[in-house]
Amino acid sequence: DVGWIEVICGPMFSGKTEELIRRLKRAQYARQNLQIFKPKIDDRYDAESIVSHSKQALPSYPVADVGEMREQLDAHVEVIGIDEVQFFDLDVIEFCNEMAQKQCRVIVAGLDQDYRAEPFGPMPQLLAAAEYVTKLHAICVKCGNPAHRSYRLATNPQQVLVGSDERYEARCRRCFAQGYSEQ
Ligand code: ADP
Ligand code: MG
Ligand code: ZN
Repeated sequence: DVGWIEVICGPMFSGKTEELIRRLKRAQYARQNLQIFKPKIDDRYDAESIVSHSKQALPSYPVADVGEMREQLDAHVEVIGIDEVQFFDLDVIEFCNEMAQKQCRVIVAGLDQDYRAEPFGPMPQLLAAAEYVTKLHAICVKCGNPAHRSYRLATNPQQVLVGSDERYEARCRRCFAQGYSEQ
């Protein structure tokens, strides 16, 4: 058996959590041993589960950092899922590589770009390290074209501002730039 890393990325509302849940449920049907983590900071819908905007859910371990993930780790784990992986420190990169090296299938989902279109946290290195990369698109709320960026409605300069519909919109390249030039 060999392990590997799968990255699911894209903007908000692109279906990253849905896709992560779909892959993890299939592993569950195959009776593989799985563990799901998410950052504690993301408590939008539920403190304990990963939840998509369409309200699908799977139980998970909310953890403050990679250290807590290591503490919770089951010695027999075969599949590791991490949602909102962009919120973890850079040490999540080493963790994912290490677990893949230990024959785990590691599936992570996260925002590749922040609201300024800058690369988000550990995502660039995770994308580079991964065997498999899936980039999803949402629908631009302004024009209906594929959207690969998350536009922040509230003008707040901190990179991490957890929220969904009321604070962010999926936008294509053109409508993203247009919005900020008008703010
Ligand atoms: P992510 O984890 O990438 O933020 P989710 O998996 O939680 O995405 O949610 C994806 C769902 O969000 C879609 O299936 C759809 O029901 C809903 N949705 C809301 N706004 C949009 C949009 N602008 N484009 C596409 N899907 C959207
Ligand atoms: Mg999500
Ligand atoms: Zn657009």
